Amino acid sequence: MPATMHRELARIVGAERVLEAPASSPYNHDAARRRGVEGRAEAVVLPGSAAEVAALVAWCYAHDVALVARGGGTGMMGGAVATHGGIVCSLERLVRVRELEPALWRMLPEAGVSTRDVQRLARENGLFFGPDPGACEQSQIGGNVATNAGGPHALKYGVTGAWVAGLEVVLAPGELVELGGWAGKDVAGYDLKSLMIGSEGTLGVITAVRLRLLPAPQATLALVVFLPTREQGCAAIGELLGSGLRPAVLDFLDSETLAMTAASYPADAPAAGFALIVELDGTRAEVKDQRAELSQVLAASAIAVQEPAAAELWRWRDGFNGVVTGVRGAKVSEDVAFPIERLGEGLERFAQIAGRHGLRSCAWGHGGEGNVHATVLVDPAEEAELDAAQEVGEELFALVVELGGSVAGEHGVGWLKRGRLEAQWAPRALDLHEEIKRAFDPKGLLNPGKKLARYPAPSPVTSTE
Ligand SMILES: Cc1cc2nc3c(=O)[nH]c(=O)nc-3n(C[C@H](O)[C@H](O)[C@H](O)COP(=O)(O)OP(=O)(O)OC[C@H]3O[C@@H](n4cnc5c(N)ncnc54)[C@H](O)[C@@H]3O)c2cc1C
Repeated sequence: MPATMHRELARIVGAERVLEAPASSPYNHDAARRRGVEGRAEAVVLPGSAAEVAALVAWCYAHDVALVARGGGTGMMGGAVATHGGIVCSLERLVRVRELEPALWRMLPEAGVSTRDVQRLARENGLFFGPDPGACEQSQIGGNVATNAGGPHALKYGVTGAWVAGLEVVLAPGELVELGGWAGKDVAGYDLKSLMIGSEGTLGVITAVRLRLLPAPQATLALVVFLPTREQGCAAIGELLGSGLRPAVLDFLDSETLAMTAASYPADAPAAGFALIVELDGTRAEVKDQRAELSQVLAASAIAVQEPAAAELWRWRDGFNGVVTGVRGAKVSEDVAFPIERLGEGLERFAQIAGRHGLRSCAWGHGGEGNVHATVLVDPAEEAELDAAQEVGEELFALVVELGGSVAGEHGVGWLKRGRLEAQWAPRALDLHEEIKRAFDPKGLLNPGKKLARYPAPSPVTSTE
């Protein structure tokens, strides 16, 4: 990093908070590392307050330097790395919980508080924070908001954005601004807070989040339902939802995922072609009633309904990524979503696409939302397999659009899915997407290259004049 840059950044955050960023630095990688995404940051800066973040954005804007906001680095799409150089602004020191009001069901953590700590603090105070993306120990609440992260409980409780009452953000060219607040209703103005949610660091830097929590449910019951075939499994998802049951979780595994993860399943799994992970919650009486209703709805189709210990069940579920990766040394997993009534067709056609390209495939995900982690297994040393995986991805995205789904269910767009929106949205909507980016970030310095609606994108505006 040039000496002047170091000196000026050190004036904002202190010399020891300005780090060099060699290629090997963890700040040049996130969870997309295995897919070859690497950053080339000139510096990593660790501000200790929202005011320092604002000063940093102002400095970047004054010197035409790109700035990439970084949370826990668990994003799967390469969003948190500086693919276009510039500065990585890590929020890891903003870890204060500024407010916690159990009686008002509220918490105001700074952006760097880990998702796990938000969940834990809520629980310790008799409350509940629903979003539970899989890398909770490492991901941060700011990153969850920036990606609008989901997870299994999003079916009943919504994705992260549903819990956000307000945001403190730094907007270009370096102003600290509050969007939203604690008012229970707020229809004044366009919903700028919602624009920030899921914006992946391309519109501003989130420094604190007003979270509206819920009272914790009295009881929960986790179940695994085994079904004979994919077709019957997808039909069962529709029947459960159509019956009026509101499960907190309705995840699925196809036959291949079941086979690969059978050894770590915490009970004796029967032979089956599909499985559902269901969680019911509410008062004890409500859970009991829902359990009876579930048995009734699935009486004709389920092979078995099991109730392993919840902690073991979730440990098994959290292990899918690792187990599936281990089978051939690597996997390429795409996060997509189908309309719920097209889920069965989507899964079947994805398996056919992978088969046509000679790759073993599997799928699991959040069945209640039609959200699929469509996966092909590859040997990382086999170039031809990696190329085939790429082609499977292209055909999968075309299929998703054909069936009226989304090319990004919950993992965002980042760098890896840049331009994918072009197939999904009308040209005017794409124009608006780009105009919003320009309105928030006229110089195109906030996480450049990420979440691009079109690719190649129109030349970035480099000057406000
Ligand atoms: C094993 C595993 C399981 C996962 N399971 C799920 C899942 O079930 N559901 C799900 O939705 N996701 C899942 N993810 C993806 C990931 O955990 C989420 O996207 C998470 O919300 C990212 O948070 P983070 O703090 O790590 O963000 P990062 O990876 O650091 O950043 C992600 C994006 O957000 C931006 N960003 C981060 N912090 C800020 C900020 N303060 N202000 C502005 N922009 C910011 C970055 O620039 C980047 O574009 C999983 C990831 C892994 C590795």
